[in-house]
Amino acid sequence: MNLKFIRGNIISKSAFKILLLMLTCFVINYIVFAVNDEFGSLQLLSLIPMLIGAFFLNIFGSVLIAIILSMLYSPFLYFSNLYTTNFEIAGWVIRVIGYLVIGFLLGLSLKELKKYHKKLLDDKLRSQFSNFYNLLKLIPDLDALNEKKEKYILVFFNLVNNDELRKYIEFDNLRNFIIDEFTKIQNIFNDAQAYSYSFNQYVFLIKDKGMDEKKCYNLLLPIIKASSKSCIIGNYSINFLLKAGIVSSSINFTTSKDLIQKARIISEQGNPQEVGIYLYKQDYIEERKLYYEIATSLIDALINNDLYIMYQPIVDLKSRKIDSAEALLRWDRKDKSPIAPGLFITIAEETGLILEITKWLITNVIDNYFNFRAHSIDIVQTINISAVELVDFKFSKWVKNIIEEKQVSPSNFNIEITERVISSNSSVLKHTLDLLKKTGCKIEIDDFGTGYNSFKTLGELPTDIIKLDKYFIHRINEKQIHTMIKCLIELIHKIGGIVIAEGVETKEQFKILENMGCDKIQGFYFSKPLEIKDFYSYYNNFDFSKYE
Ligand code: C2E
Ligand code: CA
Ligand code: CA
Repeated sequence: MNLKFIRGNIISKSAFKILLLMLTCFVINYIVFAVNDEFGSLQLLSLIPMLIGAFFLNIFGSVLIAIILSMLYSPFLYFSNLYTTNFEIAGWVIRVIGYLVIGFLLGLSLKELKKYHKKLLDDKLRSQFSNFYNLLKLIPDLDALNEKKEKYILVFFNLVNNDELRKYIEFDNLRNFIIDEFTKIQNIFNDAQAYSYSFNQYVFLIKDKGMDEKKCYNLLLPIIKASSKSCIIGNYSINFLLKAGIVSSSINFTTSKDLIQKARIISEQGNPQEVGIYLYKQDYIEERKLYYEIATSLIDALINNDLYIMYQPIVDLKSRKIDSAEALLRWDRKDKSPIAPGLFITIAEETGLILEITKWLITNVIDNYFNFRAHSIDIVQTINISAVELVDFKFSKWVKNIIEEKQVSPSNFNIEITERVISSNSSVLKHTLDLLKKTGCKIEIDDFGTGYNSFKTLGELPTDIIKLDKYFIHRINEKQIHTMIKCLIELIHKIGGIVIAEGVETKEQFKILENMGCDKIQGFYFSKPLEIKDFYSYYNNFDFSKYE
């Protein structure tokens, strides 16, 4: 029934076009007749309906018009005899042939032109790399399905080790390999279409009515697992690591783009370098939304002065006094949920905003130095700085300028760099640290023991202090860890360094560390990080004997 209607529709549309063309022929004919013009003008004008015919109906259209026109100007029609009195049959036959050839060529050219145009359009909708359709096609395809309220599944694939593959495999081989692998995956589904999102990201649209997220998961799981094993490409044996995120059109989403983004976010879970397959989870989307919110509002926090500093006292076991304090950032989010510094600092590091944040921190820490002195508080302030900042030439220059401008000695500050982020071959970092050390500023290695290069760091960087991570302190009762800490303290002392134990929470931990000869203690056992006014009173009332 439907088909009949469609066919009927097409036929009536074609009939309308043919009628329109015929009418055009008659109109032109009449114009020529009315103005009593030369026959040549008629022939030129005849090209117009032929072109229109070719446009609507290709070669058939232009040839049809050629036939109609030749009939209209045939000596057999009374109408044609109005132009001329001596209409010769031989001349007419030549004209018929001419019309037919021109009609055919026009139709053919327009057909080729249309083909070329279609190809150009199609190229725009395809990825130059994989030749799969791209987002420009995926979005309208999804829009159409959404409009018809049809159910479907989207699978977002991330090729995790894309960079490594590109490094080791010749471009064309890699492209063929990726296309082959995704085509193979596409073929396990009944009705799936692969789209390219970027070089290393692909989206499958699965329209199979019998498919749901769980079935899709079960089908893909062995493939994702197998993809972590070596694949053979030409002479290479290489891993093809995939992460996949599955969402169905039945979840809450606003636009097709929104649904694709949700699938992408879902696929980005877990360790960045590991394979994985994940089903839609609203919680995860909410978490990512929070990250976006943090990334966008952090800059406002900086401008509006919503960041502030807390100080955690560090107790020196020899002098039995608070001799330093670690400056720890906090974010006053007003009525919004609080965010742990570990999270917003990580986001600031990943977005590059950390440079501005650290500048803010240093400016305020210097101001606090003068406030501390005004309150007779004589301590060294410890500042956390990431290695990325220390290798930034402009940043080092800025630090030098502010120290000169505020006329403060760098020896009143220690710098903490986390061992985890120290890259193995940073000669620039070493150079900057050497310069800082010359100014009297001390260098601390934070979270010591949690990175990969602990001993290399000790040997290469001009380190004064190591901060033993709370991971070890919390396990100090385990025999092996106990021995390790003891030996480490001795070792650091032998090379002229100082050890701070971080995360000391109990008297027992404190006593063990004291007996081992640890130099300084930082942790909740003495005090949590404090706001400045609380720090003043803690400092002024501090009595070491209360903790013994
Ligand atoms: P971190 O540099 O290792 O700082 C020590 C963290 O351990 C602080 O967490 C502190 O509150 C916590 N801590 C201290 N004593 C104890 C204890 O006895 N038990 C336990 N469980 N925790 C203890 P916080 O303030 O949440 O900071 C987390 C991380 O955020 C910091 O780790 C540091 O990496 C980063 N951070 C904080 N402020 C700054 C900053 O100004 N700049 C940079 N780059 N990073 C910062
Ligand atoms: Ca620290
Ligand atoms: Ca630490």
